[in-house]
Amino acid sequence: MKKLTVLGSINADHVISVPYFAKPGETLTGHSYHIAYGGKGANQAVAAARLGAKVSFIGCIGDDDIGKAMKTEFEKDGINTRPIKSIANEMTGIAMIQVAESGENSIVISAGANGHLDEAVVAEFESEIAQADYLLMQLETPLPAIIQAAKIAKENNTQVVLNPAPARELPDELLSLLDMITPNETEAEILTGVKVVDEASAKQAAQIFHQKGIQKVLITLGSKGVFVSENGQGEIAAGFRVNAVDTTAAGDTFNGGLVTAMLEDKPLDKAIRFAHAAAAISVTRKGAQSSIPTRQETLDFLS
Ligand code: ATP
Repeated sequence: MKKLTVLGSINADHVISVPYFAKPGETLTGHSYHIAYGGKGANQAVAAARLGAKVSFIGCIGDDDIGKAMKTEFEKDGINTRPIKSIANEMTGIAMIQVAESGENSIVISAGANGHLDEAVVAEFESEIAQADYLLMQLETPLPAIIQAAKIAKENNTQVVLNPAPARELPDELLSLLDMITPNETEAEILTGVKVVDEASAKQAAQIFHQKGIQKVLITLGSKGVFVSENGQGEIAAGFRVNAVDTTAAGDTFNGGLVTAMLEDKPLDKAIRFAHAAAAISVTRKGAQSSIPTRQETLDFLS
């Protein structure tokens, strides 16, 4: 069975519902509070594992109870957690999320242990990248380690997929090491300077990624699906129509599903269909990791 290594963040999401966002100096009473397990790296690793991939996860947690609890949850999903490093005297990353009655959210992140995912950690777990068939990364952990991991992957014929979220500018050095990139519209705009509003502008943005040396470009378009471009031939692959209640982790589920199907040597159009199905199920459920479906649920949805 082919192998996936995910490198990325692990966060405890502290979610509080509020009537509106607190103003400077204001103390506001929220309606409800819960802690959810999140972080883009963790969500994508969980998605891939639930959807059928053999996953190793390179990440960092603090030496606190929540970090240990999350690692145990990853193991329940069948993820190899050996490359998850516990950082002494550090906290597991956190995201403080206010969800207003309007449905908008406001998020503040403290990187905590995620900030320790440096080149030394990558070097320690180099074999997990070298022996994998695919490496999937995002941008919630320090860039130097992401670049180093991509270089190790390239040297070992491991396919490199980057979900460039959260949005930020990236050096050409990293872009040239990627086999596939999966930005959403905002991320595509920040990386290419092209405002993605329709198929023509998506095609323009995709061309810029191709010029930087990336073969497969998938620009996700929310409920509209994804613009997919391989070697300059681009089109929209529509998603599934569902009754969306919470789109948190839709992108993470899509990425996990996509790479899982590619590990099974599915052609790109079939891999996208599988990823769309998994992501569509996830938007019909509340939460992040709790909303990610299993492989069987996804196959049932498709049948
Ligand atoms: P997020 O940050 O919310 O996790 P994203 O911005 O990274 O998401 P999107 O482009 O919103 O990613 O969505 C990714 C994929 O999720 C889409 O290509 C589609 O498959 C699925 N999806 C998102 N929203 C919907 C929706 N309302 N209905 C059906 N599928 C959806």
